[in-house]
Amino acid sequence: MLPSFQSAKLPIRSTVRGRRPDMGVAMYDVIVVGARVSGAATAMLLSKAGHRVLLLDRAKFPGGKAAATNLIHPPGILRLRRWGLLDAVRATGCPPIHSYGLQSGPVALMARLPAVDGVAEAYSPERTKLDEILLQGAVEAGAELREQVALRELLTDDHGTVIGVRAETEDRTPVVAHARLVVGADGANSTVARLVGAEKYDTSPVLNKSHWSYWSGLPHDGRVRTYRHHHKHAFTWPTHDGLTIVGVALPVKDFQAAPDEERDKTVIAAFDEVDPDFAARLRETERVDRWMTGAVPNFLRRSHGRGWALVGDAGYTRDPITAAGITDALRGAELLAEAVEPALSGDRDLNQALAGYARRRDALVRGHYRYTRDHAMIADHNREELEIIRAMTRSPEHGSGMVGMFATIVPPAEFYAPANIHALFDHVTPGGDPGWKIRMVKWLVRGAPRHLPPVTRLADRLIAANLGSMGTYLLGGSAGRTA
Ligand SMILES: Cc1cc2nc3c(=O)[nH]c(=O)nc-3n(C[C@H](O)[C@H](O)[C@H](O)COP(=O)(O)OP(=O)(O)OC[C@H]3O[C@@H](n4cnc5c(N)ncnc54)[C@H](O)[C@@H]3O)c2cc1C
Repeated sequence: MLPSFQSAKLPIRSTVRGRRPDMGVAMYDVIVVGARVSGAATAMLLSKAGHRVLLLDRAKFPGGKAAATNLIHPPGILRLRRWGLLDAVRATGCPPIHSYGLQSGPVALMARLPAVDGVAEAYSPERTKLDEILLQGAVEAGAELREQVALRELLTDDHGTVIGVRAETEDRTPVVAHARLVVGADGANSTVARLVGAEKYDTSPVLNKSHWSYWSGLPHDGRVRTYRHHHKHAFTWPTHDGLTIVGVALPVKDFQAAPDEERDKTVIAAFDEVDPDFAARLRETERVDRWMTGAVPNFLRRSHGRGWALVGDAGYTRDPITAAGITDALRGAELLAEAVEPALSGDRDLNQALAGYARRRDALVRGHYRYTRDHAMIADHNREELEIIRAMTRSPEHGSGMVGMFATIVPPAEFYAPANIHALFDHVTPGGDPGWKIRMVKWLVRGAPRHLPPVTRLADRLIAANLGSMGTYLLGGSAGRTA
């Protein structure tokens, strides 16, 4: 049973099983490089399964992490609950979040999160405390933690299989250790990925830049609010210690560096356009931290090879606009541990197990990755898209599905499946004129008259031109229809 984690400063002690690596070449089952969300979780799960794990990080804990906004969606919260860590996260003083809002121009959608295995809550804990809780979980499970040790080289055998690491302490003392598997959980600029030459694929450059900060004195009502308007993406949600995250993302070309006082004005002005009541509250209350800036590129990386694997941001980095990095890191750690555990126990070939992990990782994240990149462009929705989102505000099931898609619960391909969109059209402006393009889309989804193939071809073109990613999914889902 883990102790409760009320305090910000936890003593972290390593449990040393076997020889310490700086006393000679020690042998482990797994060496995990990077001891934050993905690394600590992977080390914890494999240690719990009885494997000898060395967990090393060049940082000294607690602290040392660049600021981020730290929203964890229900699939991430489910993992924390499964691992017995959720009570500790709750005890850090972050309130539960049950609803997400996606407001686009005049259309305001606010819906409850769908449940995933009984979990329908999100949290935005203080990052330092989350890292400590996971790290403590890893150490208590038996992982040997080495702080302020930086990976320098990977050791390989004659066939190029990775068999260990050469690292260095801060005073340049060498640390050499061998293992059957080396896991790179060392973030977007992963040293493991560089050393093995893991290539990136499906890449996009930085699509937007955001600035955000913490505010006090705003009421907490368990809601994430996001707004898209005039090529700006404003966002706010409750976080730890009674504070609220407030920020705005803009396409790269529109973003300008500015002193803090200037940013107060531009952020409040952005909220004036979409939620004047909230903007008024911002004027009455207080920003309690500096403005921080985020700009993240998008890529997947080959996530396995002989004797090595990547997990978390090292293997998959995406724009933070959908706030999914921590959730994905926790799910990725679970996928990796489940895949390699039987091989480490001797029941399966390790390379096959790693290939299976890579396939499942890609299948899990690809749909949301595409959705995130589309979101990250911060393009305003056109009239037809708004009409479809307005229909979602009238159908609680679709509204919940839409925010569930944002929160990595509902795969985009499932949400945009023809049957689901078919049902949504019952909620398109009753009796009004949703526009001839919408009628075309309706025809496409419900099936155009068989004798009118040109109509469906026209509908295809309209969807491609007018419905952004919605259209892409609709076209994909309707492949094979009569036309
Ligand atoms: C602006 C911004 C906002 C974000 N907002 C959210 C959000 O709201 N919700 C969300 O889920 N995600 C968010 N993210 C993403 C999230 O922070 C990452 O997805 C997450 O931190 C990935 O965790 P990780 O453990 O894989 O890697 P990291 O957290 O990057 O940890 C990597 C670790 O590896 C160590 N390391 C690196 N190189 C070496 C080396 N050579 N030797 C030893 N150790 C090494 C580092 O010291 C570090 O401790 C945001 C990111 C940014 C930039």
